[in-house]
Amino acid sequence: MKEAVLYKRIDEARIQCLACPRYCKLSEGQVGFCGVRKNVGGKLLLLVYGKPIAVHMDPIEKKPFSHYMPGSQVLSIGTVGCDWACQYCQNYDISQRRMVDGVNLMPEKLVNLALEYDADGIAYTYNEPTIFIEYAHDTGVLAKRKGLFNVFVSNGYASPESVKLMLDFLDAITVDFKGNGEKRFLQKFAMVVDPEPIFQTLLELKRNNIHIEITDLIVPRVGDSLDDAKRLCKWILDNLGENIPIHFLRFHPDYKMLNLPSTPIATLEAHYKVAKDLGLKYVYLGNVPGHPYESTYCPSCGKRVVGRYGFDINEWNLVEENRCRFCGYKIDIVGSLNKKALHYSRFFSIEI
Ligand code: SF4
Repeated sequence: MKEAVLYKRIDEARIQCLACPRYCKLSEGQVGFCGVRKNVGGKLLLLVYGKPIAVHMDPIEKKPFSHYMPGSQVLSIGTVGCDWACQYCQNYDISQRRMVDGVNLMPEKLVNLALEYDADGIAYTYNEPTIFIEYAHDTGVLAKRKGLFNVFVSNGYASPESVKLMLDFLDAITVDFKGNGEKRFLQKFAMVVDPEPIFQTLLELKRNNIHIEITDLIVPRVGDSLDDAKRLCKWILDNLGENIPIHFLRFHPDYKMLNLPSTPIATLEAHYKVAKDLGLKYVYLGNVPGHPYESTYCPSCGKRVVGRYGFDINEWNLVEENRCRFCGYKIDIVGSLNKKALHYSRFFSIEI
């Protein structure tokens, strides 16, 4: 644990956390909504600083990133706690845990571990990294110095103060909207009052040239409206641009939402069509191994330029500057194919 940076004193009795838009006001001994930031003696302590509960090596495609450093390996960490309370969370065992737990991995040790395992970067993932922003920041700054990149897998629900810290070290982010980012869905199923800060986070990261990918979990019956999808895609198109990849993810029943089925493939394909028809160039379906829409198709000639199966890359038809081998169109991907993509067993747990 360590004293947080993002907080301020409000009065004699209370302090206010500034890490996420909940802006929790905490009296002595109180812990914020996320369960990891506590007022102790008038100071805000980050209880999970240097204490990840999950440490894995993953392919970057698992995050998912399809247009950032393809084929690379990321040391992935997450802590307990979260600033959302999604009823369908697939990592609820750690994100909704309200007892601090984990292994001891201070920033320097974590970066050394990444280097030891030949990782290309570090992913802050599994739970919402904004709640442990100071730990991510200190690790990320060190990691960058050692030649590693840093990526966030996030709900985008960050305060401007957190986003400012991200700019010191973050290279790429994948923001998961869930239910098309609609207020009524997020209020009911994630205890989020207002999704507006997500859009503000994206705009600021875009202004600062951080690579962005969007995911949207399509929950059948309650979060699968095509009109909502159209609204979200239009916003992306108008504000982030036609080259931003969007991944529509298949929902699996989990946690408190066991009563719903997995998302029908036809529903996901309808979302794909909405995004493509609007003009987004790179649209994907996720959690559907073997589906043709896991792959990248050239927006110009329509040929498959990156073939994928699950998290594996099994075809690469890009030549210099990531141009389509068939027609020369430049595909908007950061980095070229990392040869690690050719290895099997690209993900495993690390025992500390
Ligand atoms: S990060 Fe946690 S403590 Fe801080 S405002 Fe958000 S929920 Fe509250």
